[in-house]
Amino acid sequence: ESVEVQIEDQEFTLESDNELRFEVENKNETVVLELKTGLAEIFGTELVKGKSYTFYFGAKIAVFTWQGCTLKLRGKKGISYISKETPMMFYLNCHASLEQLRVKSEKENIRGPVTMVVGPTDVGKSTLCRILLNYSARMNALGRRPIYVDLDPGQGQISIPGTVGAVMVERPAEIGECFSQAAPLVYHFGHTNMSINTTLYNTLISRMAEVIHQRMDENPRINCSGIIINTCGWVKGKGYQHLTHIALAFEVDVILVLDQERLYNELVRDMPGFVKVVLLPKSGGVVERSNKFRSESREASIREYFYGSPRNVLHPHTCEVRFSDIKVYRIGAPPIPNTLMPLDMQKTDLETKLEPVTPGLNMMHHMLALSFSTSVEEDVVRTSVAGFVCVTNVDISRQMLTLLSPQPKPLPETIYLLSDVQFMDSNS
Ligand code: ADP
Repeated sequence: ESVEVQIEDQEFTLESDNELRFEVENKNETVVLELKTGLAEIFGTELVKGKSYTFYFGAKIAVFTWQGCTLKLRGKKGISYISKETPMMFYLNCHASLEQLRVKSEKENIRGPVTMVVGPTDVGKSTLCRILLNYSARMNALGRRPIYVDLDPGQGQISIPGTVGAVMVERPAEIGECFSQAAPLVYHFGHTNMSINTTLYNTLISRMAEVIHQRMDENPRINCSGIIINTCGWVKGKGYQHLTHIALAFEVDVILVLDQERLYNELVRDMPGFVKVVLLPKSGGVVERSNKFRSESREASIREYFYGSPRNVLHPHTCEVRFSDIKVYRIGAPPIPNTLMPLDMQKTDLETKLEPVTPGLNMMHHMLALSFSTSVEEDVVRTSVAGFVCVTNVDISRQMLTLLSPQPKPLPETIYLLSDVQFMDSNS
């Protein structure tokens, strides 16, 4: 049996523009942080002096200070260190430029800055989005309401892996949490890797851009605050074509390129002159994540969807439905050899085709999205989804599916979309 070693509190004194970096590397380890004096922030969210913040397995944190501060860490087993080299000044300047564009758009009654953050994997794209969104949300006197769009189905930050989504940001994110999730706009993609169905991916991007532009047109405050778009780290070949498609669909004004000169030069070459392309350094603190870590965080994100987090525990429900009572579809038909393809059909039509799926063992552990469309007569593929359930058991003899749902309510009669994404519910 392991002996619990008492770890002493550690105190750190940070000069202005420094940051303290630490990770929570072990399962069951928790690290508690407290700001003792001065001012400090984590990825743009201010810390409250004297409050204890608890971090759990997988957290990779930088506590930054503009003015200087002292911090206390409790429970940290591995190394934590202070860095004097951070790109925060560049990021703050970006925020200031975006703010100028927002003021201008307010005056002229035009759309505010649409910003896209691009770069390879693990360069801090999501973190930069978070910082920029938090900075604009912190200026509450100005009432900014930027829209955060996350187009990386690998993590699916707005909802669950296998989705792309958007949410309006009204206030800074809580430390260690995602932005508050009132009425997010979520689209079912069904895969964590966008190369699996690029036609569907582009279709969803175009649709999302349309819907978001429309919402902005209806609300001047959201309109002048603009959009911050997070993209995925696939930046070569077809991945690059996706980035240009996103830029076009969302009518991007600013592209922030993290850490890759080659990508920066390609975008300068290919984007129209009015698009401002800016190369930014990545932070030396950004931690590379292994594939194992990625798949673990995907699982953690789905678990959180059902069971909540230590800060906000949720109680999901289990229900049974008869095979004959549920309409399940998949988007994208299996490829057909060219010679068998009907003349009036394109490969791309197949990729966005709605195919009925007969319930059975093939659904075991899969996520199902609940579409806002209730009938196949509607444009199901381009309609957003209301939520998700997970198939936790398939009973062939009784012809019953057991579904895990975050809601106690009876499941609505709607269209269910089968996702490639699976979740093993260890609690059931
Ligand atoms: P990307 O979106 O480019 O894949 P992320 O923004 O998700 O990268 O960053 C990768 C990881 O690095 C995240 O877990 C994030 O919390 C962590 N991270 C980012 N910036 C820092 C920093 N300055 N110090 C320590 N960890 C950081």
